[in-house]
Amino acid sequence: MPRDYYEILGVPRTAGDAELKKAYRQLAMQYHPDRNPGDKQAEDRFKEASEAYAVLSDPDKRAQYDRFGTVAGLGGVDFGQGFGTLFEDIFESFFAGGGRGRRSRAGRGEDLQYELKITLEDSARGLETKVQIPRLEVCEACAGTGAEAGSQPVTCDVCHGRGEVRLSQGFLTVARTCPKCRGEGELNRKPCPQCRGEGRVRAERVLQIKIPAGIEDGMQMRISGEGSSGHQGGPAGDLYVLVRIAEHDLFARKNADLYCELPVTFAQLALGAELDVPVLDGTAKLKVPAGSQPHQLLKIRGKGMPRLRERGHGDSCYRLVLEVPQKLNAKQREALEAFDAASKGHGTPLISAFLERMKKLLD
Ligand SMILES: [Zn+2]
Ligand SMILES: [Zn+2]
Repeated sequence: MPRDYYEILGVPRTAGDAELKKAYRQLAMQYHPDRNPGDKQAEDRFKEASEAYAVLSDPDKRAQYDRFGTVAGLGGVDFGQGFGTLFEDIFESFFAGGGRGRRSRAGRGEDLQYELKITLEDSARGLETKVQIPRLEVCEACAGTGAEAGSQPVTCDVCHGRGEVRLSQGFLTVARTCPKCRGEGELNRKPCPQCRGEGRVRAERVLQIKIPAGIEDGMQMRISGEGSSGHQGGPAGDLYVLVRIAEHDLFARKNADLYCELPVTFAQLALGAELDVPVLDGTAKLKVPAGSQPHQLLKIRGKGMPRLRERGHGDSCYRLVLEVPQKLNAKQREALEAFDAASKGHGTPLISAFLERMKKLLD
């Protein structure tokens, strides 16, 4: 006859969840196979307690057990998720204070991203600048080992250097990475006081970086090996410099070309003009041919941005934006009325053609 589950756990039949859990935790810690290597009796006690807890901690199974003194298909007791969580709990309490949090060991350091804000002019000229990067660097006090100088690593007392532990959950035995040494098989007896055993410390590193002329907004430059240092001798990660270009007051950019909206008068369009216009490094003369139309695009060749890693420059382009005066003084009005009287369809073929079509419609 199997022993009574309540008896196994040493709890009354009225025990609540917390009481069950506490009782099981004590037994599991006492009889855990890793604490009692080669002790068959301890292993049996551990399995027995695990089985009892698996049943009594499940309200349905407990109800069934209370009524019938057995649970149907016990071989199929669910050692699933809830149970796993309990094991985590138990291990947390085994090793309370043993340093929580996951960290990959002897691994590559993290890649870092640094956002660098520059101006369009910076991009046009190229830029050499210093940036200050917060990152993790190898702790000098312990040379990255995480151990205090002079203290030797000792074999992990939980896994005995194997790096993994075997958990018996009822009838199941599962191998897991040792939670105390995290698979290393050894422990630092005394963690380095400088880095608290991390092997790395926070540092601000000033780096000189060079931004090539013609770089575009959103481009990233990889600086190999300038990310955080690796864990325990692992290689350093990379630094990615993400370039952000501030919006310019006058120019929008498309690849190597620059675009500027240029407000002009009707007279400048009709008569033609030579205008002083901005270019990125000063001003230049732009010839507006007589009879230019609103929204027309004029270009000054080679005055745009330098092409990235190529020779030459793009163009500086000007969109003609016609500004109609919102108020006229007497002289302007007089001149315009005279102009209108003199026009009568001269030089405006679109209007003439439109009037023709409209006339046909009315005929
Ligand atoms: Zn250290
Ligand atoms: Zn271990």
